[in-house]
Amino acid sequence: MSTVSGASTPSQVERFVVLAAAVLESTPMEIVTTRSAFRAHLDAVRSDRRTVGLVPTMGALHEGHLSLARAAAAECDVVALTIFVNPLQFGAGEDLDAYPRPLERDLELAASVEVDVVFTPSVDEMYPGLQLTSVHVDGLTATMEGANRPSHFDGVATVVTKLFNLAGPCRAYFGEKDFQQLAVVRRMAIDLDQPVTVVGCPIVREPDGLALSSRNVYLTPAQRSAAAVVNRALREGAASIGAGERDRATIEAHMAAVVAAEPLAELDYAMVVDPVTLVAPDRLEPGSEVRLCTVVRFGTTRLLDNLGVGVA
Ligand code: AMP
Repeated sequence: MSTVSGASTPSQVERFVVLAAAVLESTPMEIVTTRSAFRAHLDAVRSDRRTVGLVPTMGALHEGHLSLARAAAAECDVVALTIFVNPLQFGAGEDLDAYPRPLERDLELAASVEVDVVFTPSVDEMYPGLQLTSVHVDGLTATMEGANRPSHFDGVATVVTKLFNLAGPCRAYFGEKDFQQLAVVRRMAIDLDQPVTVVGCPIVREPDGLALSSRNVYLTPAQRSAAAVVNRALREGAASIGAGERDRATIEAHMAAVVAAEPLAELDYAMVVDPVTLVAPDRLEPGSEVRLCTVVRFGTTRLLDNLGVGVA
């Protein structure tokens, strides 16, 4: 590292600046496993007048997660990434036990994007004893994933509320990949006056358009190449809107037909919704924004994707 000026003998101030920069650069990532240590760490950050960027994840980190951490680092002084596979948001028969948990690799990836603190609690640490309280966001959770996975969003809203309460005032980064989750968390933070600014970040994709997901590892090679159809269906839906189609059911049928043409794919839903209310309009209004949302199954693996479209 060089000194901050060309003077041959660095001044006291220059030496302090260089030393401080070196200390900051070499600050190791801290790993905490208890709620009290996580809270104390971020309280100390804020009492130093530094800002916190929170990145909640279930681990098995990939570029999508890392893009959230980078966005947090660009806007906040300290990045706190959480890794917790939350049992409350998995339904019976879902992949809770099989969900990948490569903790060592996750910690290396987190360190590579300059995460400052990782909170990786056990289930017992997060839910000691009885958990009689749960957070329910109405309306937004009645459709799409909420209709397919009862109690999923109560599990999400409850764990995110706990993380917000532990983290304290911060900016929290969520991916548009889970578009309905983002809408639910945004609404919850407003409705409950949680001291958190929820920030949505764009979807990171593979070159063929498949959205990165921790669940992509479940796909066989044949399913993986067929999975490009998920994003293709959305893009074809968007293209039909671009060509003037305004009837919601026709656009949804068009997306469904694209998926149906792929033998390994089975459609759960393909919907056109308002991006804030998640209500499906009968006809698309000029000047409005809509979100095309789909879930497609490949064997037992459900892949989610969505795309925002402006209506001319
Ligand atoms: P998960 O670990 O799947 O719970 O995801 C943690 C966060 O990462 C959520 O806010 C997701 O929306 C976000 N995320 C997951 N995949 C992507 C992706 N491909 N691009 C952007 N964000 C993502």
